[in-house]
Amino acid sequence: MVESGRRIVALRRLNHEQLERLRQVAEVEVFDDLNEDNREAFRAAVSRAHGLIGGKLELDEDMLAEAPLLEVVSTISVGYDHLPLAEMNDRGILLCNTPDVLTETTADTAFALIMATQRRLVELSMMVREGRWTAHVDREHFGSDVHGKTLGIVGAGRIGAAIARRGALGFGMPILYTANSAKPELEAELGAQHCHLDELLSRADIVCLVVPYNVDTHHLIDAEALARMKSNAALINVARGKVVDEQALIEALHHGVIRAAGLDVFSQEPLSVDSPLLALDNVLLLPHIGSATHETRDAMAWRAVDNMIGALTGKGAVDAVNAQQWRRAHGHNEDPA
Ligand code: NAP
Repeated sequence: MVESGRRIVALRRLNHEQLERLRQVAEVEVFDDLNEDNREAFRAAVSRAHGLIGGKLELDEDMLAEAPLLEVVSTISVGYDHLPLAEMNDRGILLCNTPDVLTETTADTAFALIMATQRRLVELSMMVREGRWTAHVDREHFGSDVHGKTLGIVGAGRIGAAIARRGALGFGMPILYTANSAKPELEAELGAQHCHLDELLSRADIVCLVVPYNVDTHHLIDAEALARMKSNAALINVARGKVVDEQALIEALHHGVIRAAGLDVFSQEPLSVDSPLLALDNVLLLPHIGSATHETRDAMAWRAVDNMIGALTGKGAVDAVNAQQWRRAHGHNEDPA
């Protein structure tokens, strides 16, 4: 054991170099993945740990109650809706995430979905592969333009702004956006227009969801919201599956309430092979690959490692999600850890 006496549990997505870096400050117990055989061992390891780091972290209230030493949770993701933040706040546990390093890659994924959905790339590629390209492509296979179409960004934060930039500067798209607060820089840079969600839905040709998932955004896009959209519009979701009422979306796609959808995220992942979404031609489905490039996943893992080490050694974590609550719980004004 290293001198500090600290223990870190590492779950998924960390390479040898990253684990070695963590071993310079703590003893590290590694779980490459979780399954029925090792889940109990994982829970036992967390109950002895000072730090928990990794991708798709599994942590619930019961585990927190059994982990009195836990000081830092460092997730390899920007979203943290899968973690019990309120309980972590109560217990004074610092939560770190990995913003920024995945922004451009996730925006690339969103734009790939926009392009592919508008131009029906996957559906038409399948036609070629399956030997169904037997005559010149005619109206029934035409797509819709991307350039010049109105792009609605629901949640113009880091990733939303990066998608808007691609649309406005690369494709001459007018930009509408929603956010909790107006973004004057984005308006000055791109001529983007801040509007109410209802107005965005009724005016945009492509609606792109990039809000965090929480109680306020649960089923933000429901049957009523879908009915407000243009009948030839497309819905793109790179946020979280439960931001959309999936059943309502299936109905809307089936009945032509909207023309198409491009989805990277689902209410349940992996998507069930029985999902009615699989039977629809006008939806493009990706296996949650928003940030999944070699470069970006590596950068995210290093960022999470730096956050963990900064927090555990007292140097400070760069990306502290709950810094304020942490300070309150620890009764002082210093920076986290
Ligand atoms: P961010 O910078 O915090 O941006 C989120 C934006 O959403 C902010 O502009 C915020 O407004 C706005 N917002 C929050 N609640 C809203 C609401 N109820 N209505 C309208 N706008 C609202 O986060 P980010 O880095 O861009 O990431 C956004 C989300 O994308 C993450 O939370 C994650 O769930 C998802 N994501 C998915 C993938 C993937 O693999 N598919 C990859 C990365 C991220 P204010 O700025 O005014 O507060």
